[in-house]
Amino acid sequence: MDRNELFNHLTQLENNVNRIQEDMQALKSLTVALVEENVALQIENDNLKTLMNQEPDATPVERVSNEQEEEKTPQKKQLQSREYFATLYHEGFHICHDVFGKHRNGQDCIFCMNILNDKL
Ligand SMILES: [Zn+2]
Repeated sequence: MDRNELFNHLTQLENNVNRIQEDMQALKSLTVALVEENVALQIENDNLKTLMNQEPDATPVERVSNEQEEEKTPQKKQLQSREYFATLYHEGFHICHDVFGKHRNGQDCIFCMNILNDKL
């Protein structure tokens, strides 16, 4: 292998590494966007489930199961939402108003922490 060939080979390798790094960054951004969308959908789904359970005109079958759980529901629901916010924050997402559900990218957020301290 002559010197020219060696340098050409190194340049080619460098270009490949740079392209892989660009692909990696793009994949990272895409992953963050997908996870944020997943969190938003999960929250929407939970909200819809809660709304459905509160619906006064539930079908008889649903009413029976509602009545069975009626006594423990309020406290259980409050506890679930506290745990849910804490879990969401510890999984790396904002729970503060302005950027709710966005990824924190490893940064602590003082607004989220205020909410956590209020709720817990
Ligand atoms: Zn926040």
